[in-house]
Amino acid sequence: MKPIKLFSTLILIFMTVPVFSQNQTEVDRINTSAGDVEIFFIGHGSLMFRTGENVIHIDPVSSSGNYDNLPKADLILVSHEHYDHLDTELIKQLKKPSTLMFSNAASAEQVTWAQVMKPGDVKTAGGIKIEAVHAYNILHERSKGSPFHPRGNGIGFVLTIGDKRFYVVGDTENTPEMKALRDIDVAFLPMNLPYTMTPEMVADAALAFRPAILYPYHYGDTDTQKLIDLLKGSGIDVRIRNMK
Ligand code: ZN
Ligand code: ZN
Repeated sequence: MKPIKLFSTLILIFMTVPVFSQNQTEVDRINTSAGDVEIFFIGHGSLMFRTGENVIHIDPVSSSGNYDNLPKADLILVSHEHYDHLDTELIKQLKKPSTLMFSNAASAEQVTWAQVMKPGDVKTAGGIKIEAVHAYNILHERSKGSPFHPRGNGIGFVLTIGDKRFYVVGDTENTPEMKALRDIDVAFLPMNLPYTMTPEMVADAALAFRPAILYPYHYGDTDTQKLIDLLKGSGIDVRIRNMK
């Protein structure tokens, strides 16, 4: 292989393989007008965003992945109180005196210093605008008339960082509120069954609000290739990370 070919091949590999942090959590970088946002894919529904000024833990749960080498939080966001989203022991470990937490009301019953957000509420913290969006099931029920996630309980979050908007939707289906959103640059949509969405529901939502980048997350054993096939040719950049 000629040196020049080797060099371009190496660049290609470097660009397409996700970077790993010390504890092997995958990390992607998204460029914004406020500097890069590093996204740490901890596992299942747990994410960490790091900006120049803020560490944001979203639905931090110790069973989702390894928190040993991750920094404490400036901001903690919790979508709802299910065990795979709310981990009160880990929250104690991630808390600094200055940490702010925003959550749905049921989570704030267990973490009394958290500030409650209801769908439609808007907050600002560390220069980041945080909007709460409804998160609920339309079709999938625990039993007749009892959805896994009833409307009005859980929330998802739209974070505006610089010129980019990140939507971490929580446990939900393809709701009208979600599909009405616009100008989302990066979206995280859950795809495990029976609790959240089928690949078809995720594709339907994505085609409605058209994020530039879509990460299926909280996907359990659902086949991510199905989503890739459904969105082929849509122009949406579907990225698969280890978020079972
Ligand atoms: Zn849930
Ligand atoms: Zn969940």
